[in-house]
Amino acid sequence: MSMILNIHETSGPSVPRFENSYATLPQRFFERTQSTPVSSPRLIRVNAELAKELGIDPTFLASDDGVAMLSGNRFPETADPIALAYAGHQFGRFVPELGDGRALLVGEVIDIKGQRRDIYLKGSGPTRFSRNADGRAALGPVLREYIVSEAMAALGVPTTRALAAVTTGEPVRREVLLPGAVLARVAASHIRIGTFQYFTARGDLEGLKVLADHAILRHYPLVACRDRPYLALLEAVISRQAALIARWMLIGFVHGVMNTDNTSISGETIDYGPCAFMDEYHPGAVFSSIDQHGRYAYANQAGIAVWNLTRFAEALLPLLHGDRDEATKLAYHALSGFQFGYEPVYYAGLRRKIGLATSEEDDIALLADLFGLMEKNRTDFTLTFRGLADEIEAPAGTRSLFAEPAGFDDWAARWRERPAREPNDPVARRGFMLAANPRFIPRNHLVEAAIRAAVDHSNFGPFETLLEVTGKPYEEQFGREEYAQPPRDEERVVKTFCGT
Ligand code: AMP
Ligand code: MG
Repeated sequence: MSMILNIHETSGPSVPRFENSYATLPQRFFERTQSTPVSSPRLIRVNAELAKELGIDPTFLASDDGVAMLSGNRFPETADPIALAYAGHQFGRFVPELGDGRALLVGEVIDIKGQRRDIYLKGSGPTRFSRNADGRAALGPVLREYIVSEAMAALGVPTTRALAAVTTGEPVRREVLLPGAVLARVAASHIRIGTFQYFTARGDLEGLKVLADHAILRHYPLVACRDRPYLALLEAVISRQAALIARWMLIGFVHGVMNTDNTSISGETIDYGPCAFMDEYHPGAVFSSIDQHGRYAYANQAGIAVWNLTRFAEALLPLLHGDRDEATKLAYHALSGFQFGYEPVYYAGLRRKIGLATSEEDDIALLADLFGLMEKNRTDFTLTFRGLADEIEAPAGTRSLFAEPAGFDDWAARWRERPAREPNDPVARRGFMLAANPRFIPRNHLVEAAIRAAVDHSNFGPFETLLEVTGKPYEEQFGREEYAQPPRDEERVVKTFCGT
């Protein structure tokens, strides 16, 4: 196994000091739990950069005590590990109790910017919420979450992060036996829409209010001074979700399991299961093996976010107004604000992707025509947009991505006319296009190859390399050209699995 650490410390590693604000909430919010020890944990990787950002000593994480913590075998004294209670709509069906069935919140740290962040283990063993499942995670999905969440962070999208990963030395049984692993995840918090639903569904309005106050204090402190703080909380969550989904759409990301238990109140992308980036553009793109009806397809994601936020609004109704009809009216109005959070981010982002800093009425048609051509020609989403950036100064062969290049030529002629009315000079325009259009994304076939090497051959080299390449998505990386390429036919991955 490989381990990347660039830390040179002379004194012994310092043990992290955890805070536990969530554990001070009423007892029914969580279950105090010690994880189930594993026989021979081994470190796969420590994210030293992130550790430093969190004020955690990376050499501690790589030490025996650190690995003991990361595997759930032994925790520092200040940790207060708990499994969180939550509910959620899964594929449209309400489940009143889900909870952390294979995860633990170890504690919180205050990072170097003063932000409170959760340190959370995924795959740490059964809890009260496990039902009949084993509480474990397989190595493949742990590596997938590590790679994709770190790539999202590098792409500038709000997301949970990967702090470290360990193997447990114990097999987990899925369809076959697989190596077990634990991911250490960092999040602004693990409060989900489903957490609110948990209390409302039980008629526990006291719990609902405590949770809402905690979420406000933690994520939206300014909201506390508003006349209607709970309505303002709803509006703030809607606006962050709207901006988040717009960001996904701009990079061709498909989350895959947008259930309400996988929707964070903080506005971070959370729960990387069967997620994937599109190669060829297709609005109906679905990768998840369990999403048989395309509920969570690429182009449905904004609509599904509104559906999820409507469930959030329903859960908050008792706090919005004493009168149910009034509360519903307020919620309805707040939900109609989704588009005002979504559209500016989405359309400004799309304009930037084709090099436009100003806005003209016909731009929408210009963009729609490009998407129409991309769909018809099944061109690669990422390469097409990056190619346009390269076209700014001289023809760069983007037309060859299209099976019928003449259609692209006509479109490109219109597109070349349009920036003539832009204030930016071409060099500046190309610069901001390059910053909006990644060269490198964690393409599914590359993620799959990294997982296969690790799982089948204990070779973590491809995992390390992929992390390095996707960690600088907007840069040209000499010698890494193959990582920018779409899969060959035999490399294509059409289905992804949650691995639960
Ligand atoms: P997910 O699909 O990962 O969002 O998980 C949905 C629910 O199933 C959550 O309550 C998880 O804690 C639970 N869950 C998923 N996998 C397992 C597992 N292997 N053992 C116990 N609970 C699990
Ligand atoms: Mg989940």
